[in-house]
Amino acid sequence: MKTMTCKQLGGACDKEFHANTFEEIAEISKKHAMEMYQAGDQAHLKAMGVMQELMKSPELMSNWFENKRKEFEGLTDND
Ligand SMILES: [Zn+2]
Repeated sequence: MKTMTCKQLGGACDKEFHANTFEEIAEISKKHAMEMYQAGDQAHLKAMGVMQELMKSPELMSNWFENKRKEFEGLTDND
C-alpha cells in the first residue's frame, strides 16, 4: 500500500489515504472531499474551488492527474 495525504491530492488537510493503485486513492480522496464538503469545511471548500477551476481545462486537469499519478507511482510501498 502507498500513502498520500489529502493535501498532496489537492485537498486541504493532512489526513492520510492508503491504497494500492492511484485510481483507488483518487476515489478515497474524492469521498473524503465530499464528506468535508457536506460538513461545510471552509478549507476543503476552497481547495475544491481550485480543483473546479482546473477542471474547466481538460488539458490542465489531465496534466495535474498525470503528475499526481507519477508522484504516487514513485512512492515506496509501505504495506
Ligand atoms: Zn482533507
